[in-house]
Amino acid sequence: MLKSFITHFFLLSVVIVNGQDMLEPSSGGGFEESIIERRTAVVLNNNEAVAEDENAAETMRDSYIDSLMTFPAHDIYETWDNINIHAYDFDYKDFSDTLDIVMKRSECDFSHPFRGNITSNFGDRSARYHYGIDIKLYKGDPVKSAFEGVIRISQYSKSYGNVVVVRHNNGLETLYAHLSARKVKEGDHVEAGDVIGLGGNTGRSTGSHLHFECRFKGEPINPNDIINWEEGKLACDTLQLTPENFAYLKTARSKKYHTIKSGDTLSGIARKYGTSLSAICSLNGMNRNSTIYAGRKIRVR
Ligand SMILES: [Zn+2]
Repeated sequence: MLKSFITHFFLLSVVIVNGQDMLEPSSGGGFEESIIERRTAVVLNNNEAVAEDENAAETMRDSYIDSLMTFPAHDIYETWDNINIHAYDFDYKDFSDTLDIVMKRSECDFSHPFRGNITSNFGDRSARYHYGIDIKLYKGDPVKSAFEGVIRISQYSKSYGNVVVVRHNNGLETLYAHLSARKVKEGDHVEAGDVIGLGGNTGRSTGSHLHFECRFKGEPINPNDIINWEEGKLACDTLQLTPENFAYLKTARSKKYHTIKSGDTLSGIARKYGTSLSAICSLNGMNRNSTIYAGRKIRVR
């Protein structure tokens, strides 16, 4: 009975929330159905812990529903993870719909995160694809949230340094990395333009800059699809999210090889492709002392 109540709650929530939320599927029901299925699966797992006691079940159900209602875009995300930056198992290959993601209803709905020169754009960067855009700034420059939302992540990461991830009502998440200081904590509500941190050079970074990413259910979207970085304004008021936005991932995640030339060393190849010696070794079943021969192809991605 509890099971069916919760299942019905989710069916209702998807229908009701779509009417008031900023993200509206504009075609097809497959996407909604998969959300409902996965949410039901989450609930079923939770049910294993439900005691036979009806009251305990009731309390658990209420708090579970309450917790779902408190984070943005709960009709799209069934989780609220404050520990893992990359917390979703969504695969872009399963996405076949067109979603209208409303970026702006009024002037105050968007604020440019930081105006500065682009030092490295989104795109292929040798072994590692660059899933964000780099903006030059100086240590201490204020970095602002692009849209209203709730802070999902505020932590120090080895690669991103001080990093903040904001979940927005429209279903997008934005990420701000290499900060010298974080000014928000998980669960904080922010408006567009609120300072979330100060610019810096922390984590895997050479020189102060802002590394900005925009993701939908964990899959990166080209930040130029949503923001015109040169002019400091939105690229569009409504983003039509289609499989086209994720088409680049096929190349980005494809294998990449290097043909060894005489004079090459494994560490030199790692540097050339912006990867690490250990990554190359594990991709090719080698160790750092393995002998390499000219003409042999080795995998770098
Ligand atoms: Zn970057």
